[in-house]
Amino acid sequence: MSLHIETFPAGPLGCNCSIVADLSAKQAIVVDPGGDFDEIEARLAALGGVKVTAIVHTHTHIDHVGATAPLQTTTGARACIHEADRFLYDLLPVQAAMIGVPLPQKAELEGSLDDGTTVTAGGFELGVLHTPGHTPGSVCFVLSGGDKPHVFTGDTLFRRGIGRTDLWGGDSDLILRSIQGKLYTLDPAAVVVPGHGDASTIGEERGKNPFVRAS
Ligand SMILES: [Zn+2]
Ligand SMILES: [Zn+2]
Repeated sequence: MSLHIETFPAGPLGCNCSIVADLSAKQAIVVDPGGDFDEIEARLAALGGVKVTAIVHTHTHIDHVGATAPLQTTTGARACIHEADRFLYDLLPVQAAMIGVPLPQKAELEGSLDDGTTVTAGGFELGVLHTPGHTPGSVCFVLSGGDKPHVFTGDTLFRRGIGRTDLWGGDSDLILRSIQGKLYTLDPAAVVVPGHGDASTIGEERGKNPFVRAS
């Protein structure tokens, strides 16, 4: 397997979109296509015709799903969320009005990202951890199969920060439990790719995150 990971800010709020690909099998998964569909398409094309087999979302705030529909249309890939976030997708018009961005087209979403399930492409897999708190259906994806593990944490855990819990369905106790019980128990060497901003590692956040230390 030839594992390739790239992360770049996309969309109105600079959501980190990631392309995870097995270049030898020519298959990829896109995490959080928040916007800038043309850029995502160009980056996929630059990888030499990888086929997107799944589009997965850490949660369904508008800044993480803005380019899902056109990407689904061009790739034919299934697009997946945790079912507990579907109500937020139904609230997209309200979310769009709130931050003042155009309403994205609607994609066909599968509510299949249950805790403990995996999404595979080529020779790698993303394991799903349900980590509610930022939203009821927030999930993190643990990538195994490369030389070091990566965890895509969405807006649950940031470098030296955590996600806000004052929006629809947010829960400040739950997010702490999700981080301490599910994220901080991962390999300390695992690279944290958050939903916004710079990368970190689980070990660094356990020691230095001002909001949640290891229990
Ligand atoms: Zn969010
Ligand atoms: Zn976000």
